[in-house]
Amino acid sequence: MALATKKYIETHQDRFLDELMDFLRIPSVSTSKEYATEVHKAAAFVKQKLSEAGADKAMLIDTQGYPLVYAEKTVDASLPTVLVYGHYDVQPADPYELWETPPFEPVVRENKIYARGASDDKGQVYLHIKALETMLATQQLPCNIKFLIEGEEESGSEGLTRFLENQKNVALLQSDAVLVSDTTLLSLEQPSLTIGLRGIIYLEIEVTGPNRDLHSGVYGGAVGNPINILCQMIAALQDEHHRITIPGFYDRVAVLPEQDRQALAKIPFVLSDYQNALGIKAVAGEHGYSTLERTGIRPALDINGIWGGHVGEGGKTVLPSKAHAKLSMRLVPHQEAREIVTQFTKYFTALAPKGITVEIRVVHGNSNAVVVNADSVALQAAIKAFEEVWARTPLLTKDGGSIPIISQFKEVLDRDIVLMGFGLDSDAIHSPNEHFGVANFFKGIDTVIAFYKYFTSLHA
Ligand SMILES: [Zn+2]
Repeated sequence: MALATKKYIETHQDRFLDELMDFLRIPSVSTSKEYATEVHKAAAFVKQKLSEAGADKAMLIDTQGYPLVYAEKTVDASLPTVLVYGHYDVQPADPYELWETPPFEPVVRENKIYARGASDDKGQVYLHIKALETMLATQQLPCNIKFLIEGEEESGSEGLTRFLENQKNVALLQSDAVLVSDTTLLSLEQPSLTIGLRGIIYLEIEVTGPNRDLHSGVYGGAVGNPINILCQMIAALQDEHHRITIPGFYDRVAVLPEQDRQALAKIPFVLSDYQNALGIKAVAGEHGYSTLERTGIRPALDINGIWGGHVGEGGKTVLPSKAHAKLSMRLVPHQEAREIVTQFTKYFTALAPKGITVEIRVVHGNSNAVVVNADSVALQAAIKAFEEVWARTPLLTKDGGSIPIISQFKEVLDRDIVLMGFGLDSDAIHSPNEHFGVANFFKGIDTVIAFYKYFTSLHA
């Protein structure tokens, strides 16, 4: 790295962190309307910081939901352009009582920044903004950059999805590669790049029996109980080998070539450490697959919430009218989300006994898995960037998680995507005590700067 760049970051590192803390203090929870003002505040904050960093243009683009922050810096139209994507919204922070310090009062403990959004994704968005500032302040920006930071990633990216339907908007995002930092590294010692993400389907289910809640003494045993029935229907979705029973579900799932399985087996993984970190004595999953295979290359189905009847304090002898569940499925390459929603709906509805009605609401229904092109110039540049900054060749990993908008980017923008995440799996994203390493933040800045350098030279 150029000396001037290194010096600039050293001189300004405290301010960089202070600004990130300001960003983290804004409770931009996009999933609940009560935070709407704060989500807008976070958008304005990102726009202002991009402008201060030296972007030519930084603006808010209204959507039907929360605004998109768009910015660009053009060095020379003949040079390649990289589009940086991230999100300024965060997951809800509850349960609050499990946080050691309040989620929106960021603190640094043991070189980690604790706050909701520290790792997902504010810390990772902010390191890009500071990389831009550093490159512009030291005249090191080798290519053109566009930023697109959205505020609805945690709630379905509805606004951005609509935005991408308009060809004029797609033209605005024209670029040579898309760079995303919203994933994790294996460790600070062994960097990695994500080359696969699972797709996601998210559904809400309502099962209805009698027209009102009934007395479980008067009617129990004679009337179908929607909660009992919902539990049976859910249990029927998997067999004893943890295989999903929806007809057609696995039809498109590719059989992994032996060499890919061997590559996956080389990724450092200690099952006992994994179990200890989770406080479990055994793992469970599809028979015939390792844990990394179960999350990396195999689909999954999970109930994310289930409720109905009396859940308050004390007993109430009720046979409820309704039962509810939220359910997610993680998809692997070649599975078609829309097709699976149809297959699920048909099968699940048929599982209901007579007299029970089932309603299924599709929350997310079109996010397919993402496969990064391993031969692309963009990925090669990312590998070189890690080699320079981390002095190790990054391993290529497949993440079990999903970033729904990425599959749409691939479809609509038709550009190579690099998933250059700097978080760690232990960062507790979406959980209490989320944190992001200070070292991850600063190494992230260095790596991003190196990426632009290699991408521009390899692209020529
Ligand atoms: Zn995220």
